[in-house]
Amino acid sequence: MRHYTCDLCGKALTPTSGPRMILKMESYPAPEETTLTDATTEADVVEEVALLLEEAEEAGAEPPVPTTRKASYDLCIPCHRRVTANPLGRARPATPRFSGN
Ligand SMILES: [Zn+2]
Repeated sequence: MRHYTCDLCGKALTPTSGPRMILKMESYPAPEETTLTDATTEADVVEEVALLLEEAEEAGAEPPVPTTRKASYDLCIPCHRRVTANPLGRARPATPRFSGN
């Protein structure tokens, strides 16, 4: 039997520790002319590409030509919950802030 560990926290994922969640990610450059039918998905891809370009600019390098990337991760339940709540790892998750009055 194959042994899995959480790709985020490193915890061993055994049948007794709960289900193993598989996270699949795919990013690719958007076609030039698109009709935005699925705004959420398009926005996510655009944001990731923008981030890559920004990083390259900071490093003083030529922006790389983005290519299709696919990745798959094994996650434990708490890490899966964390990642799906904030998939882009933003410093401030989009949660409403309430003032105390
Ligand atoms: Zn984990």
